[in-house]
Amino acid sequence: MSVPREGGCACGSVRYRLTSDPLFTHCCHCLNCQRQTGSAFVINLLIEADRVELLADAPQPVGVPRDDGEQRIFRCPTCQVAVFSEYTRPEVRFVRGGTLDQPSSVTPDVHIFTKSKLPWITLPDSAPVFDVYYDTKALWPAASLKRLEAVLARAHSDA
Ligand SMILES: [Zn+2]
Ligand SMILES: [Zn+2]
Repeated sequence: MSVPREGGCACGSVRYRLTSDPLFTHCCHCLNCQRQTGSAFVINLLIEADRVELLADAPQPVGVPRDDGEQRIFRCPTCQVAVFSEYTRPEVRFVRGGTLDQPSSVTPDVHIFTKSKLPWITLPDSAPVFDVYYDTKALWPAASLKRLEAVLARAHSDA
């Protein structure tokens, strides 16, 4: 395992540490992500919620409408920077790569929703590219699939 990654918001009230490598890293070019970030895409590190250790204030969830429902985005209560979000499963966080102290420490494992990719962006050959989404079982490393299975099993046994 590599050195734990840390990150936080702009004002420093929210700080977090990822206690392991992410499960998988998305670069999402969908229109929702473009709107939410005001930019061309978002980098999301998918990781088990219990591997995101909060070191200071807790970010506050805000419900944000998407084309296909709603998503919770966790923001610093003071400066409102979004540090991570949650889609359908609360067990998995989508940590925003730009909030890492060293954003260069991660590279996307996949580019998704490239059907709405801005035309001036040229993607590298180093990661697979999908018009919309992909098959998790086909793309994730075995170790990550195992971890996902474990965290979902834990969630079901708690319920
Ligand atoms: Zn802040
Ligand atoms: Zn997206």
